[in-house]
Amino acid sequence: MTEPLVERTAAKEPLFERVAVIGLGLIGSSLARRALQSGTIAREVVAYDASPSVRARVVELGIAHRVAETVADAVQGADCVVLCVPVGAMGVVAAELIPHMQPGAILTDVGSTKQSVIREIEPLLRPDLHFVPAHPLAGTEYSGPDAGFSTLFEGRWTLLTPLEGSDPEATARVAGLWQLCGAMTREMDAPHHDKALAIVSHLPHLLAFTICGTADDLEGESRNEVLQFAASGFRDFTRIAASDPVMWRDVFLNNREALLEMLARFTEDAQAMARAIRWGDEAFIVDRIERGRRIRRSLIEIKQA
Ligand code: NAP
Repeated sequence: MTEPLVERTAAKEPLFERVAVIGLGLIGSSLARRALQSGTIAREVVAYDASPSVRARVVELGIAHRVAETVADAVQGADCVVLCVPVGAMGVVAAELIPHMQPGAILTDVGSTKQSVIREIEPLLRPDLHFVPAHPLAGTEYSGPDAGFSTLFEGRWTLLTPLEGSDPEATARVAGLWQLCGAMTREMDAPHHDKALAIVSHLPHLLAFTICGTADDLEGESRNEVLQFAASGFRDFTRIAASDPVMWRDVFLNNREALLEMLARFTEDAQAMARAIRWGDEAFIVDRIERGRRIRRSLIEIKQA
């Protein structure tokens, strides 16, 4: 786990002079809100979003000190730039803003996939910049600047995947940023991150989208009953399935190998369950259900439920 920087910064100077948040959706607007409220993260919070309507909404919401009209203006003079755009847009946005960053500044991101973001951004980096990829494990099914809230990251993990040879001080400062948002931080390598997230986040979303599609394909009476009696289990899938299509399209396409590997393992396990049901293998069925209950209890115990 990264050493807490919170105590070092709380009573003194803010961690950064100017943080530029690029992409003011759920994650970016939550970060901006937190940074603006806390005062310990940055002296100034500058926001930029490609969408004029999002920029206008951010001004109305008052969740940044300043909303820039161009990405170049947003990052000039910032000692920390946080990319909060969908993972498929990370490379394009980084290429646009890197030439305008000040020497010594930190570039970080919040993307849900890490190898793809590193693959896109690493070749664009200047030697006088520090790149620290990160991923806050916090979110909801809502998107856009109205969906964010300043406590989103509290008690949640943020995973950092620094590159080999990254400056440890830059990594510590990015960890400090997330700790000041109330998060716990941990470092791991990017392939490990992508594999872990494939099972804990990407596969469950894939299953939720798929089961909703299956229900939607049903005909007539059965389809109506799905909606009418949704309370029993199906409803929980629909919450996950309400997530942003662009964000999740990008996640699936950018964590292809790990996700397909987990899906293959899941399919084998689902087949084993089907076989147990077909042959009335009660012990197998009960064992699987008990394993599920144990995992749920463990999550509650570590306060991540
Ligand atoms: P979101 O609510 O859809 O927000 C993304 C924002 O980025 C939108 O305002 C979008 O504008 C803007 N954008 C898109 N392309 C851009 C560009 N080229 N330049 C500047 N702004 C651009 O998405 P989100 O949920 O905050 O996700 C943002 C990032 O956080 C993604 O990389 C995602 O993988 C990661 N993440 C998400 C979650 C989650 O649960 N949602 C959790 C952890 C990490 P338009 O709407 O006009 O396209």
